[in-house]
Amino acid sequence: MSNSNFRVIIVGAGPVGLYVANALQQANIEFVVLEQEKTVLKPAGQLLFVWPQTVRLFDQIGLLAPMQEAAFQLYQKKRTSGIDGRVTTTSNFWGFMRENHGYPFLLILRSDLVRILYANLKRRDTHVRTDTQVIDIVPHAHGIHVKAKDGAVVEGSIVIGSDGVHSETRSLMQRLAIQSTGVDEGNPMQSSFYGLFGRASIDQVKIEPGVLFESRGAGTVIQCSGTRRTLHFVTLTPLPSRVTERIRYNTEGMETYATSIADVAVCPGVTFREIWKHADKSTTVLVNQEEGFLSHWHHDRIVLVGDAVHKVTSVNGLGMTCGLHSAAALANELQSLSAAMPHDPTAMLFNQAFAKYQRIRESECRAIWAAGRSMVREVTRRSRVNWLWDTYFLPWLDMESFAKGILVSLLLIRYGHILTYIPFDEQGGRITWVRRCKR
Ligand SMILES: Cc1cc2nc3c(=O)[nH]c(=O)nc-3n(C[C@H](O)[C@H](O)[C@H](O)COP(=O)(O)OP(=O)(O)OC[C@H]3O[C@@H](n4cnc5c(N)ncnc54)[C@H](O)[C@@H]3O)c2cc1C
Repeated sequence: MSNSNFRVIIVGAGPVGLYVANALQQANIEFVVLEQEKTVLKPAGQLLFVWPQTVRLFDQIGLLAPMQEAAFQLYQKKRTSGIDGRVTTTSNFWGFMRENHGYPFLLILRSDLVRILYANLKRRDTHVRTDTQVIDIVPHAHGIHVKAKDGAVVEGSIVIGSDGVHSETRSLMQRLAIQSTGVDEGNPMQSSFYGLFGRASIDQVKIEPGVLFESRGAGTVIQCSGTRRTLHFVTLTPLPSRVTERIRYNTEGMETYATSIADVAVCPGVTFREIWKHADKSTTVLVNQEEGFLSHWHHDRIVLVGDAVHKVTSVNGLGMTCGLHSAAALANELQSLSAAMPHDPTAMLFNQAFAKYQRIRESECRAIWAAGRSMVREVTRRSRVNWLWDTYFLPWLDMESFAKGILVSLLLIRYGHILTYIPFDEQGGRITWVRRCKR
């Protein structure tokens, strides 16, 4: 039984919402997750890079073993020329991670990650309500009402919007902010890139397993990796013009796009045509990949986390990691508030906690976001300068390979967040973690 002095309504049961739920469960804070889909356990979804600092977060809540069982490891990254498939650089970056931090770099299907987080929740039937699409949020003096499309009203103290890039919580929060402050930030999420992700059979497309191939310089970046059974791919191409509205592509649109990039080489001897020919079309999706960064992360009793507040394309594999570390920082603030207060905190106290969460995370997330933005523009450019850079300079100046990945480890990975209230005997490597918790 929870002895919580407040109740949190989490909107969205994606990786970030379910991680928040796990973190609140450990803090003994009462919560309910509202998910619009009929099930949390959707089989489809992209392959996610889980960085070592994020693997540590999972270890802390007791989920390292199931993660390692479901995930697989990459050993090498090979950058290739999208023109002829030639390998331009080889990096062993992934392989250094265990030595640097004590945790590996994992690749896991979104569906497996969600399944693991969901399975770890106690009393799932009451804590997670599916088929509940949030359509309105009304704060009042002592709490907040959340209204669902089916007419249900859920009562809580605060709302955490983890409902993704097209967040309804964000729109509702912004509407409330306009009414009370006149500030209209608008929707910052815009797409300048679109692309396919999906799977193909490794038996038919011969690709070296355990290697991430990143083909660039042909106007589209194609990332491709093979496990023993399956080949996973993601492509990104600039859109003719920037779009704000959500576009849902049909099969015809998907085929047209696939044809347009068919001649791009992925790795030696393989073009995208071959991958597409053997793709399992039940797994392929064409999507616009939005980019955006919100200035106001909270208002009144509502706070946002994950893709709802900062979104980059998938090119650097850091979107979810960024969201999960923000979720940990937010959970820390809520746990402190819960521990310090004998009664339900006031809206002002919640606001102070939300403001602190944003202060802690904003500059960290913005740096990752800005790096992702410039990376996708660099790798999808078709220019002589980029070709020269990839062929003659990058092999010597590759930041990922330098001194066993030490730059990325020092500048990014070691700053990973942690739930400060859970004693944890973490693993470590040659680089110490900056943020530690009680042992
Ligand atoms: C092709 C691709 C590859 C990627 N690769 C990586 C990677 O390698 N590493 C990485 O870290 N990130 C990666 N990302 C990014 C990552 O997928 C996202 O950052 C992550 O899924 C965000 O999680 P989230 O929980 O914030 O949002 P989402 O995953 O979008 O989940 C939001 C949830 O909210 C629900 N919802 C929405 N609206 C409502 C509503 N009104 N009411 C109730 N529920 C609602 C949705 O149904 C959904 O379940 C990739 C993304 C793509 C597209």
